[in-house]
Amino acid sequence: MKFEVDEFGYYGQFGGAFIPEMLYPNVEELRENYLNIIYTKSFQEDFHYLLKDYVGRPTPLYFASRLSERYNAKIYLKREDLCHTGAHKINNTIGQILLAKRLGKKKIIAETGAGQHGVATATVCALMGMECMVYMGKHDMERQRPNVERMRILGTKVIPALSGSMTLKDATNEAMRHWINNPTDTHYIIGSVVGPHPYPDIVARFQSVISEEIKKQLIEKEGNPFPDYVIACVGGGSNAAGAFYHYLNDEHVNLIGVEAAGKGIDSGDSAATTALGKPGVLHGSKTILMQTEDGQVVEPYSISAGLDYPGIGPMHAHLFDVGRVQFMSATDDEAMNAGIELSRTEGIIPAIETAHAVAMLGKMEFAKDDVVVINLSGRGDKDLETYIKWGKY
Ligand SMILES: *Cc1c(COP(=O)(O)O)cnc(C)c1O
Repeated sequence: MKFEVDEFGYYGQFGGAFIPEMLYPNVEELRENYLNIIYTKSFQEDFHYLLKDYVGRPTPLYFASRLSERYNAKIYLKREDLCHTGAHKINNTIGQILLAKRLGKKKIIAETGAGQHGVATATVCALMGMECMVYMGKHDMERQRPNVERMRILGTKVIPALSGSMTLKDATNEAMRHWINNPTDTHYIIGSVVGPHPYPDIVARFQSVISEEIKKQLIEKEGNPFPDYVIACVGGGSNAAGAFYHYLNDEHVNLIGVEAAGKGIDSGDSAATTALGKPGVLHGSKTILMQTEDGQVVEPYSISAGLDYPGIGPMHAHLFDVGRVQFMSATDDEAMNAGIELSRTEGIIPAIETAHAVAMLGKMEFAKDDVVVINLSGRGDKDLETYIKWGKY
């Protein structure tokens, strides 16, 4: 079984590049050049230097002893929450800004939902002295004000998307439109393993540093690079792709992707894509997405803005399809409870996205010596308002 992308940009039946003709030259330029650029010695040196001294990698693999005792397994937390800007997203934006520079681009555009990818993009643009514009739904700008101001402090222009529901998918549409009109000098930094080929592959490769480190760290701690389980939440799927990447062909390692069930899978307010979705095309690739009988995209819902997405990346659609990754889900309440539990047992307040992965501990059965790695994708600072509103602590 092959889990990686093929030469046509497909993962099994999913992937590809379903783009308007006008976008073809931009995407083709990337496709032709990305592998040659990112595997040069100078690129790898720059990338790893910045990951180390700027982002703070390697992030610790922390043995959570109190949590382990409670769930009767050896639980490790991969601390992506300790990355600069508070989540794994910066691994990818560092990689893409270096790629953009080598392609001779002068300007960066991006889209953002909750603002984490926008902040990570604004950060690397400040670092490299590049002009940056981030498209964000007007509705999201109102709910995520601190991240909007963070981007502005970093010198980025935040442009409200005023169409549709004024959220992530509308911001994505407007960023695409901008890119069509400014093909030669602009690079579009996509924030998850979604979009037309080669984006899902680019983002997965940059995030794969996560599982590369987990393997080394587990050899040190357990004398064996293979855990029994790797658990990660899935919005578009970039932190999960990074945590799974170097284990895909080690089929004795169980990989668990966790989606947001919102108010319940069958409540009508959910973002549990694999449970509810069907194959279709979303944001330039064939994948699994939540849609009506006649193919209209269904508005997703989750308490966590980062998981509030109607699709998943094509790599995950394939991994689901062939059964390599088991998909589970957590409701808003389960995730919030898990967030509080992690805060109280280990002194770590997680992002609410991340709390969905933590919630699996209460839903799974482990054998006594099972080694379980949870990818702690981000910290909870940005979610304080949501924790306060939820109130049950
Ligand atoms: C953006 C985000 C996610 C969801 O995105 P993926 O691409 O699925 O990783 C999860 N956790 C945190 C902390 C995020 O910021």
